[in-house]
Amino acid sequence: MTGTEDKVGDSSRRLLRVVVVGGGAAGFFAAIACAEALRGRGSVTVLERGPQFLQKVKISGGGRCNVTHACFEPKELAKRYPRGGPALIGALHRFQAADTVQWFATRGVELKTEADGRMFPTTDQSQTIIECLTNAARDAGVELRANCGVERVERRGEGGFRLTLAGDASGTGILPVQQSAAHFKRFEGSATALLDRQDACPTIDCDLLLLATGGCRAAAAGSLATSLGHTLEPPVPSLFTFHVTDTRLDGIAGVAVENAVVSVAGTKLKETGPVLVTHWGLSGPAIIRLSAWGARDLHGRNYQFPLRVNWLPGQHFESALALCQRQREKTGAKLVVNAMPGAKTELERRTPVRHGGGHMAGQHAEPEFGAPLPARLWEKFVAAAGISATTQWARLDRAQLHALARQLTEAEFAVTNKSLNKDEFVTCGGVRLAEVDFKTMASRACPGLYFAGELLDIDGITGGFNFQAAWTTGWIAGQAMAESLAAAR
Ligand SMILES: Cc1cc2nc3c(=O)[nH]c(=O)nc-3n(C[C@H](O)[C@H](O)[C@H](O)COP(=O)(O)OP(=O)(O)OC[C@H]3O[C@@H](n4cnc5c(N)ncnc54)[C@H](O)[C@@H]3O)c2cc1C
Repeated sequence: MTGTEDKVGDSSRRLLRVVVVGGGAAGFFAAIACAEALRGRGSVTVLERGPQFLQKVKISGGGRCNVTHACFEPKELAKRYPRGGPALIGALHRFQAADTVQWFATRGVELKTEADGRMFPTTDQSQTIIECLTNAARDAGVELRANCGVERVERRGEGGFRLTLAGDASGTGILPVQQSAAHFKRFEGSATALLDRQDACPTIDCDLLLLATGGCRAAAAGSLATSLGHTLEPPVPSLFTFHVTDTRLDGIAGVAVENAVVSVAGTKLKETGPVLVTHWGLSGPAIIRLSAWGARDLHGRNYQFPLRVNWLPGQHFESALALCQRQREKTGAKLVVNAMPGAKTELERRTPVRHGGGHMAGQHAEPEFGAPLPARLWEKFVAAAGISATTQWARLDRAQLHALARQLTEAEFAVTNKSLNKDEFVTCGGVRLAEVDFKTMASRACPGLYFAGELLDIDGITGGFNFQAAWTTGWIAGQAMAESLAAAR
């Protein structure tokens, strides 16, 4: 069923109402899109449980808000979603990262792109995004009500919905200032006017309902959706770091490797990218991406699994062994801890290698590392290979060379648990996508009901993809609700 086919009840005597539950990124985007399209021919209200709106935007991206990612090809963009990618392709053709950039630029917020493709406001402050969204909502006439948690929702016999608010819902907050007071008048019969304070628990009626309540880490968070006939894919965390207790990582928190391949034995899970040693184990983009693609699988293993790390992408055990053997020939007199294989000498670094057989005498055409490994990590590998700090390369036996090559390319670490990544985490799971029409974000199970944002079973890897999903689904839902109201009028 499309949004325009929804029945929205008898509209002849009053202004039609849209209620958005959830004052986060998706709820705001949907409410703004809907109100801008309606131009006052209906009321749009956002109900937020907390005292403040857009709280996740505030803390996002380390306080800078990674708004989206500089990937402007919908099919490519969709590949960054471990859950929901295929469903999002069509939606991204309608509102993609380039549209996000344009949307904010039109409202005076310029985004900049960092080397890895992440896009932030040029101010580097999430507050810029918050102010932009709240101003846009006010300008469009959206009624914003904080401290308004929705506890229950029922379908009304005549169409539409009745929402029961939490007993302590005061319906006040940071935003219903002067302008909202004007809206109360303008939208006579609006959601606020219908807030029945006689009851112990106030209620609000509406014609169309958008649920944008965010990731349902606790299953109860999806209860509004399930009470209206929807199914939740079981929620589990995504975007986390790994706990590893291992002498190879002891005392070197903060050491980062620019490029490594991390994989989970016995699965197809494999990622390449920066890896960071933390006080608890391993983190960094490659680890966090691995956690996203493996969110369900790793949850099923209770976050206990062997992690394999190849610290030299492009190399494998045999080639690393050859590298170590050449190092033994080349720098036999040097201590192993002081001469990492593949790391070039100062002279080699300054002398460009001529290809086509033009090597200088004595220079090996050995495979180069993308970047040398941090010396402190190399020292750990040497120790883990059973080689003392006073051993010279020339004294290494075959078993020790093998052990070094293994540390470099097939190092295994026992992961024992996970930690949330402080910069960004999301929930894998949520409202089952087959139950939602992605042309409109309308429910296929319940007429008049729409979804947007992380409540859906969509989640992306880090880098701005999660907000992009919120902007895309919110924008489409907002447009569709406005069209539905227009058709019903
Ligand atoms: C620390 C952190 C940093 C992040 N950084 C980034 C980043 O830089 N880039 C990126 O792309 N993604 C980031 N994310 C992910 C991103 O924040 C979310 O994917 C995004 O906020 C989802 O938007 P949403 O509107 O669906 O949900 P939310 O932002 O979670 O908003 C849902 C809102 O609904 C409200 N609500 C819930 N239930 C009710 C109810 N019953 N009644 C009324 N209100 C209710 C909640 O209080 C909440 O305000 C980050 C996440 C975290 C936790």
